[in-house]
Amino acid sequence: MPTANRQPLTARKKIALLGIYHETNTFIEIPTTLEDFKNGYWLVGDAIRKEYEGAHHEISGVIAAVDACEDMELVPVFYVSATPGGLITRDAYESILAQMMLALDQVLPVDGCIVVPHGAGVADGYPDMDGHWLTELRQKLGPKIPVTGTLDPHANVSQAMVKATEALIAYSTNPHVDQYETGRQAAWILIETLRGNMHPVQQLVQLPMAISIEQQYTSRDPCKSLFEYVAHVKQQRELLSASVLLGFPYADVAEMGSAFILIADPKNIFHSDLFLGEVAENLIDYIIPRKEDFNGVKTGIASVFDQVIAAEKPVLMLDMGDNVGGGAPGDSTHLLEFLEKQPYSKVFICVYDPAAVVVASQQKPGDRFDLTFGATRYETSVTLQQVLDGIFTEDTPKHGGFVNYDMGPTVIVTTATGNTVMLTTKRTPPYSLRQMTSFGLDPIDFDVIVAKGVNAPIAAYAPVCPAVIQVDTPGVTQADMTLFTYKNRRKPMFPFE
Ligand SMILES: [Zn+2]
Repeated sequence: MPTANRQPLTARKKIALLGIYHETNTFIEIPTTLEDFKNGYWLVGDAIRKEYEGAHHEISGVIAAVDACEDMELVPVFYVSATPGGLITRDAYESILAQMMLALDQVLPVDGCIVVPHGAGVADGYPDMDGHWLTELRQKLGPKIPVTGTLDPHANVSQAMVKATEALIAYSTNPHVDQYETGRQAAWILIETLRGNMHPVQQLVQLPMAISIEQQYTSRDPCKSLFEYVAHVKQQRELLSASVLLGFPYADVAEMGSAFILIADPKNIFHSDLFLGEVAENLIDYIIPRKEDFNGVKTGIASVFDQVIAAEKPVLMLDMGDNVGGGAPGDSTHLLEFLEKQPYSKVFICVYDPAAVVVASQQKPGDRFDLTFGATRYETSVTLQQVLDGIFTEDTPKHGGFVNYDMGPTVIVTTATGNTVMLTTKRTPPYSLRQMTSFGLDPIDFDVIVAKGVNAPIAAYAPVCPAVIQVDTPGVTQADMTLFTYKNRRKPMFPFE
């Protein structure tokens, strides 16, 4: 009976769990507000455990790892997250930070801390938002309390983030399907540090390059070979961790770009003071000569359409310019309007448009009426199929590790051409097939499924879509980052200079 040997509460090491999680696209005009976080995930205390225990999120991995140790106790404190979007308002960030610190005060003292930032958060007045809150946390805890944590590989990592923590580990898949394992790793390093068995030191290696978004799929080259090489170096050099940060190009901040985080244990006899610098040189020597491969080629709808016709159906068409997971609104009808003019009558697309949902909800299923929707106010005759609450759940490991989805009031309509449009009240990234199957839509009934993303939707859709085609579409997440005007990024940087 393992519980019989369980240490009394007083003898256990107390580990706090905290996170402010946001991927911020600074090229979007609409700000991210406190309400967006309240409508996203706002979890305090045991609500964190209730949402994530037994799921596939990094927090689920942390819970499992700490719960398995008789000498450790996890204290979930505070975790908030909002759908990727524009700059976080100053008020929202300052309020979140104050509430997080207040919640932490209630549980202090603690022996260690696990943090779950995204790593690409930007708030008004706080361009390095994650560096800021991690530094505030470090100041509150003092220098002796170890802090480890996870990152999304789309993090733009700053020196402040690395300085404020002992170990940060990024997921090593894109789409992100290893979040659970990453949470376990971060917990493992903290637990072993608290037991005195490990003494992690980490080094950030910022690269003078940014990897283009459509080249960030880790099951395909160039990223596949890069991740394999880094895993090989980690094993060969006996590192505790070696993370590849793909970076998030849609943030005009100084730390925007790709990077590595290397974590060693100086107690390991092979790990001298110069050791991490030496490993960093190896990795730089690998990636810089291959930089062109990480830039890729962008192709618009007109040039990929022959591929769509030839491909086995259903085809997953990725709308890169309106990537909800990259902060885009999810309201573009660019691909739908093109496909409506083609001899296709079996297209599925999800479009965010709360006003159109209200208009369509006033009709009865089977009614035919004119509807205007989407960013370009596409107007067409539609038939109402279903009016829904927009709620569904996902229980398998998919990008994001989300369990509970809420699209808000949702309608499904078909256009005169026969294409299917799902209109939602809340912006919803296409990370789960259940978005279709929960509402009686079978993906294999369609010729083309449009998903507003770049790589993340592949985890959900690849099992049913034999062909996956990334399309360079216009929008705030357009694939060609050289078309944006940056004021704050580092220079020189590839592919800009
Ligand atoms: Zn990501």
